[in-house]
Amino acid sequence: MMNSQTFDVAIIGSGPAGLTAGIYMARGAASTLLLGGTKWGGQLMLTSTVENFPGFADGILGPDLMAQMKDQATRAGVDFKALDVTAVNFQTQPFEVVAGNEVFRAKAVIVATGAETVWLEAPGIKEFIGKGVCSCAPCDAPFFKNKRVAVVGGGDSAMEEALYLTKYANEVVIIHRRNEFRASKVMAEKALADPKIKILWNTEVVEVKGDTVLKSLILKNNQTNEVKEEKFDGLFVAIGHKPMSDLFKGQLETDEKGFLVKEQKIPGIFVAGDVHDHTYKQAITAAGFGCMAAMDTLTFLG
Ligand code: NAP
Repeated sequence: MMNSQTFDVAIIGSGPAGLTAGIYMARGAASTLLLGGTKWGGQLMLTSTVENFPGFADGILGPDLMAQMKDQATRAGVDFKALDVTAVNFQTQPFEVVAGNEVFRAKAVIVATGAETVWLEAPGIKEFIGKGVCSCAPCDAPFFKNKRVAVVGGGDSAMEEALYLTKYANEVVIIHRRNEFRASKVMAEKALADPKIKILWNTEVVEVKGDTVLKSLILKNNQTNEVKEEKFDGLFVAIGHKPMSDLFKGQLETDEKGFLVKEQKIPGIFVAGDVHDHTYKQAITAAGFGCMAAMDTLTFLG
């Protein structure tokens, strides 16, 4: 079914990039549709306290920050719909965006679809997702009260997951494939100093085992090639994120890793946030990119 309105802009995605773009577009007097997804809010919905977003000196919970951004966007006049976009047609003008059995038309589109969890390739990972294999400690940590859990990864996400898990688990083991962390010094030091956290360096998860739930991990030391099985109740995967760009295959330009190229060739198509940014990946930078995309879109609309 074709929606009767032609919007000035359709924004796809409702993380900090999409919502900031929405605020700027609506305040720029553009009719603004924001297709936010059934699971709206992006990655900050899966995080706990955000301590580095300027303006919140005491920190703010990720979901609370997103709720505030959404309120601000709808109050500015954004038409927010929690619908998943299933197809786009950027070969026609106005552009067409399909979501929830409706076709929406817009003179410009801002793509702000963000990024999602990368899972390990090891056997058993996919099978045990939700049965011990997790990617969000603030969501799932309470299930591991007094249990032994592993976190795989060596970046800030892995440190954050591990520190969060210490509130519930008896022991948290960070499994990292190298002998030094990629994480920022302050986060790494916090994890290293925590008495509940143990580190397995130069170690890879080669298999996840269990019955109805995860019971153990097969681990390999990549220096000695020693392989051993250790009992665990859970595994939190924190090895990075991949851009949500599949929807635009064949229509928009990507790099070799699937990140959208920021400057697209189609006039009226703009890109903002983690779907193109593999360098900074912060809430504040995503918001900044959202602002820039909106200002460029307002100039395009004239
Ligand atoms: P990241 O910095 O890219 O780190 C990914 C980690 O996973 C690396 O240590 C990497 O190992 C490891 N890894 C990647 N693929 C692997 C595989 N196949 N098997 C085993 N290990 C693998 O990703 P991130 O931790 O998600 O952080 C992303 C960005 O968000 C960063 O800029 C970070 O600073 C930011 N962030 C900030 C906060 C905060 O400030 N509170 C919290 C979370 C994230 P190698 O080191 O060997 O490559």
